[in-house]
Amino acid sequence: MRVREFKNLFLFVSIFFVCFLSFVQAELPIEVFYFKPSDVEAPTQDELDSIHEVMVAVQDFFASEMDRHGFGLKTFAFNPDIEVIEGKDELNEYRQHITSHRKIRQESDSIQWGLENRIYVVFLGGASHLVDGALGLSQALCAVHPDQLVYCNNMVVVSAEMRELILPGTAHEIGHAFGLRHTHQRFIGNRGDVMSAPFGFFPGVVRTLEEFALSFADATALNEGGRLSVQEKNEVSEIDGDVDNDGDVDLDDVKIVKSGTQNSTPYDTDINDDGVTDENDVAIVKLKAVEAIIAAAPHKRKVKLTTWGRLKER
Ligand SMILES: [Zn+2]
Repeated sequence: MRVREFKNLFLFVSIFFVCFLSFVQAELPIEVFYFKPSDVEAPTQDELDSIHEVMVAVQDFFASEMDRHGFGLKTFAFNPDIEVIEGKDELNEYRQHITSHRKIRQESDSIQWGLENRIYVVFLGGASHLVDGALGLSQALCAVHPDQLVYCNNMVVVSAEMRELILPGTAHEIGHAFGLRHTHQRFIGNRGDVMSAPFGFFPGVVRTLEEFALSFADATALNEGGRLSVQEKNEVSEIDGDVDNDGDVDLDDVKIVKSGTQNSTPYDTDINDDGVTDENDVAIVKLKAVEAIIAAAPHKRKVKLTTWGRLKER
C-alpha cells in the first residue's frame, strides 16, 4: 500500500515537472549567433545590427501570418544579444552541408544537444551559400527522431552574405526548426509559400518577406504546438502602462495596479481592457516599467566574444 502511494506521488510529481518544464520551455527565446571563420573578418556593429533586423523581420512575419490566419499575433522571442563565435578553421570547412553543423556546434559551448526546446540561429560569416548551393540548413540536436520529440534542440545555419534570400531563407529554416516541412505548393495567392523550396533566385534582387506567406496548414500546426516557442507578442507595446499619468511607467504604476487587483482605485488599472484588474495587468505594467528603465539607461547591444573552446566528444 505504501509502495503504491509512493508510486502515485512519484507519478504526480513527475507529471507536475513535465507540465512545469513544458511551460518554462515555451518561454525560451531563440539564441542568435554570428559564426566567424578564421579567414573572415570580425563583424562590424552595422553587420550585427542588420542580422538583428533580419530576426525582427522574421519575427514580425510569423506574427502577421499567424494573425492573418486568425491565431493572433503569435511569434517567437529571441535574445537580442548576438554572440560572436570565433571559428577555428577557414570558411570552406564550415560550408559542407553534411558536416558544417557539427563543426559549428563543436566549436561553441553555447550550442547544446538536448531536449530543452532550444533553437539556435547561426549566421555563417562570409558565406553566400553552403557548398551544395543551399542557403542554409536546419538540424535537430538530439539523438532520437525529431518527429517524436517536440522538445529536441535545433540549430539553424544561415549564410550571412546571401543578401538576396536572407529574409525568406531565415524564415524558412526557422520554420523547419518549428517542425514545418517542405510544401509542394509554390504560391499562396500571389505570394510564395515560405516553406516551399527552392526559392527563385535573381542576382541582385533582394526578396522581402512581403512576397512570402505561411500556409493555413502550417499556421495551424504552429498554433497547435509545432514548436512551443511560438507565443503571444507585440500587443504589449501598444498598451499604456502609465497608470498615474506622471509621464513615466515606473514602480508606482506597478504598485497601483497591484492594489487594484484587491481594492478599487481612482485609476484605470485594467491595463489590457479585459474587464478585470488581475495578475495579467500587473505582469504587463511590470514589463512596461522594465522596458522603460532599460530604454532610459545608456545601452549598447552586448557583443559577447567567445573562442572556439573545448571540442565536445559528440
Ligand atoms: Zn527547407
